[in-house]
Amino acid sequence: MTLSRRDFLGAGAAAAATAVVSGKAGAGLVEVVDRSLARKSAASRPVVVASANGIRGVARAYDMITRENADTLDAAIAGVNIQELDPEDQSVGLGGLPNAEGVVQLDASCMHGPTKRAGGVACIEDIATPSLVAKAVMDYTDHVLLVGAGAKKFALQMGFKEQNLLTEESRQDWLRWRACLNGNDAWLDHTDPVVIKFHTGTINMIALNAAGDVSTVTTTSGLSWKLPGRVGDSPLIGAGQYCDNLVGGAGTTGRGEAVMKTCASFLTVEHMRQGMAPEQACLKTLERIVAMTEARLLDERGRPRFDVDFYAVSKDGRFGSASIYSGSRFAVADASGARHVESAYLYPRAERPRTPRPACVNQAR
Ligand code: ASP
Repeated sequence: MTLSRRDFLGAGAAAAATAVVSGKAGAGLVEVVDRSLARKSAASRPVVVASANGIRGVARAYDMITRENADTLDAAIAGVNIQELDPEDQSVGLGGLPNAEGVVQLDASCMHGPTKRAGGVACIEDIATPSLVAKAVMDYTDHVLLVGAGAKKFALQMGFKEQNLLTEESRQDWLRWRACLNGNDAWLDHTDPVVIKFHTGTINMIALNAAGDVSTVTTTSGLSWKLPGRVGDSPLIGAGQYCDNLVGGAGTTGRGEAVMKTCASFLTVEHMRQGMAPEQACLKTLERIVAMTEARLLDERGRPRFDVDFYAVSKDGRFGSASIYSGSRFAVADASGARHVESAYLYPRAERPRTPRPACVNQAR
């Protein structure tokens, strides 16, 4: 630990501010989708990989690593701060979709490969950058995970600023969802297998530098309309993200309940440890997720009624991503610039079972 608490506050705030200002104009940003499969690309370092919404973030993180010699975790967190502070990204931080009571509760975790440390926060309210609070838990406490009121109290003690995270757009979406509710319904009362329509979205980022040091971070507002107190996979080490500096890193977005039951980011890193390429490791993990899915969430062909996306980077600089259903893409920044790449998949999206919609005209988008 080299930073004092005061230094930390300055550094964290500055990093977040820089990320917002420079994110849109990241060097080498290419707005095209690379249709070549990631597995065909040669290993190269440094490389930064993220969920698709991290396209500005990977450019920023790559710049920090290559031009400023930044630490991989500092770079990855600066990358995700762009989405956390963007009110238009309703999957994370400021503007994230709220829980069933209209309260924005955020989850985040991070892991620093070179020093084998990790930190996380769950159900934290009123703090826009939970990824930085997760790093503060890692840097300034003897713990790995703080939740709820304790996490917020810690953040305030560390100098983070409290703010209302519920934007008018997200509040309107919540009101539309609430208008569809029948107060007598129990949580699993439905005639069709699944009629609860959640909105998912999250940002995961994995950064690898030229020396082969890797770090990972995941941050989210979780499933929209979740039960207050619900914790997803994102703040859990080994679920929402994981890295091992000897092997590489992995992270995920999508239905957290499925990821938590399979310790899926840890599993993906273990698959790479056994010699699988990143994309193959992601696919293997998704197969396990499908195999571990309860019957109520499977269609008649045994396919899940939800999606999960996985991202992975191996220590030698190969990268890959896969989803249960086709059509996903992810963000990459390396010597060829920042771009979107199509993810591998288990099943064609056309074969994805349709989630029946409640008969309510006010269904949120
Ligand atoms: N994994 C997140 C969660 O379950 C949601 C998402 O990635 O969309 O909280």
